[in-house]
Amino acid sequence: MVVINFFTPTEIVQQLDEYVIGQDDAKRVLAVAVYNHYKRVQFAEAGRTDGVEVKKSNVMMLGPTGSGKTLQVTTLAKILNTNFVVADATAIVASDNVGEEINKILVKLLDKTNGDVHAAEMGIVFLDEIDKLVTGVNRMKGESIQQIMLKIVEGTIVDVPYQGKIVKMDTNNILFICGGAFVDLPGIVRSRIGERDTILLNDFQVLKQVVAEDFATFGMIPEFCGRFPVVVVLEALNRAALKEALVKPKNSLISQYKKMLDVEKVEIEFTEASLDKIAELAEKLQTGARGLRTICERFMTRIMFDIPSEKNLTKITITPEVVAGDAKPIFHYSVSKESGELTALAPLPLRGTSPYTDEGEVDSGKGY
Ligand code: ADP
Repeated sequence: MVVINFFTPTEIVQQLDEYVIGQDDAKRVLAVAVYNHYKRVQFAEAGRTDGVEVKKSNVMMLGPTGSGKTLQVTTLAKILNTNFVVADATAIVASDNVGEEINKILVKLLDKTNGDVHAAEMGIVFLDEIDKLVTGVNRMKGESIQQIMLKIVEGTIVDVPYQGKIVKMDTNNILFICGGAFVDLPGIVRSRIGERDTILLNDFQVLKQVVAEDFATFGMIPEFCGRFPVVVVLEALNRAALKEALVKPKNSLISQYKKMLDVEKVEIEFTEASLDKIAELAEKLQTGARGLRTICERFMTRIMFDIPSEKNLTKITITPEVVAGDAKPIFHYSVSKESGELTALAPLPLRGTSPYTDEGEVDSGKGY
């Protein structure tokens, strides 16, 4: 028995807000699409179509890497309590047997539901890097893959080999959400609308005006794009949004580090300026919020290596210099390392001095 949680689009957005920073337009469009999709499923299940067949609204998500496409879909699946799989179009493109590769996605869904076909038939498939069907393969193969996928995303019965049997799977109620960066698409939209009318707009504002014709110019076959009537556009996170993404969402990166150190009974403090620095460096990487982890791991890995061997350590302070790799973190001890006496938190060391120096470690003056 599948119980999909029913929420209004407003409720869906409110819940997405707890995990995803910004992307307000995208959240709203996605929430409505998902709400309508499951309403349609509900009607079909109850046999209440009254002869009116509501068309499926698969979703196309456009947005730069690290803007939260996967995060939004994953969060959505959690909110709705539906089964959900992520697949990557690059694997389909690379395969010599496209049909088999697509079947693997449906098998993953069946795995998620422990073989319950009906439950799998109401799941969500997130197909990432869909633009690789154009940019990652020669034209003929790309188009033939899209032809094969057409029927499946629209809704058909597929014979899926599963645990030694052939399972008939109806893809009619599976919601397909495709995602991709579509790097050249803003340029295509600009050319269609006219450079003069788009000169003041950023890529996000331009992409919000995308039409089917632009996807065709990009190289997708019109029938395939036609199966994705809902287009969701995500914007690149700016520095302020990156800083928010670091601390604000439930399960944010900073709260994850705090939790991990909590296990060691050590508090970790990030100064406001250190958070600014992480966001600044992440912005430079141009990998969206993905860059936040890259930057943090650079100094956190060493910290997490050292902590279990430290005695009487109570707190670590991360400064912008630590983030930039110019200093080591400030370690605070409950007992002075020199005298063995109980002490207030250790004073801030000078830039580049080591919290380990009182153990006789040679301080190189550089951070991690
Ligand atoms: P995409 O699929 O767009 O490439 P992801 O959803 O995989 O990006 O995000 C990569 C990382 O960045 C994840 O850890 C995710 O939690 C974080 N992230 C991305 N966008 C946001 C956002 N808008 N708010 C909070 N975290 C985000």
